[in-house]
Amino acid sequence: MGKSKRRDYCLNDMKCYWFIFCKDDLLLQHNEYGYAVPCSDTPPVKLAEWHTLINLPIMDGCQCKAVRVDAPIINLDGFEMVGLRASFDVLPKEYYDMAGKAAELLYWDASSKFCGVCGGPMKFHTDISKRCTNCGKEVWPQLATAIIVRVERGDEILMVRARNFRGAYYGLVAGFVETGETLEQCVEREVWEETHIKVKNIRYFGSQPWPYPCGLMVAFVADYAGGELRRDASELSDARWVNRNNMPDIPGRASIARQLIDDWLES
Ligand SMILES: [Zn+2]
Repeated sequence: MGKSKRRDYCLNDMKCYWFIFCKDDLLLQHNEYGYAVPCSDTPPVKLAEWHTLINLPIMDGCQCKAVRVDAPIINLDGFEMVGLRASFDVLPKEYYDMAGKAAELLYWDASSKFCGVCGGPMKFHTDISKRCTNCGKEVWPQLATAIIVRVERGDEILMVRARNFRGAYYGLVAGFVETGETLEQCVEREVWEETHIKVKNIRYFGSQPWPYPCGLMVAFVADYAGGELRRDASELSDARWVNRNNMPDIPGRASIARQLIDDWLES
């Protein structure tokens, strides 16, 4: 599977990119470059009337639409369902990003069918908002904001292995921002709670949408300020200081965790 080169697939503005999901899998079409998001005037599979089509922004001069189907699409010649995470390796970045946005909006649509205030049915008001048909309450997609931080001590960084990691790799301290907390306070709290390490000189690194299912990762770099490493055993199966000569397995390229680690390895 090679990474496709970005190119314009559409010559006709009647055409539309179809982001068709079943659970976390996205329908992709085989082409000469590898994989592409299907682009055609009608969807590549038959959709029922009750399928909700969600409008996405225009990309390459083409409409983009997202839809969720109940059963995986198999035996459709020239097409294949690919996990959203795996699609990072085969789609141009712009298309992967749009697929992530599609997945987030589909998740939001499925989890906001009824009003949280009165229980009335919610209806799309704009492409990114819904309104209660009974009391008029308006809602927008919610983001779960999380921080991730590379803590540095001399030529070492702090790496952890979370109990909920699927693979055998090590990542960086991360956690969800709590209500009423600044991002920097969250960095200090998460590092302290997970490893009993104090940090200082917290610097912004970058951010990344994390559509699993509706996250925003905000990445930081910080310096060790004190404390003896003692992991929170309920969250972490391991925590350690590593240098360039004893690196464990690290996360895949799609994550900002990997960007934080690569940035340090290259520095
Ligand atoms: Zn309501």
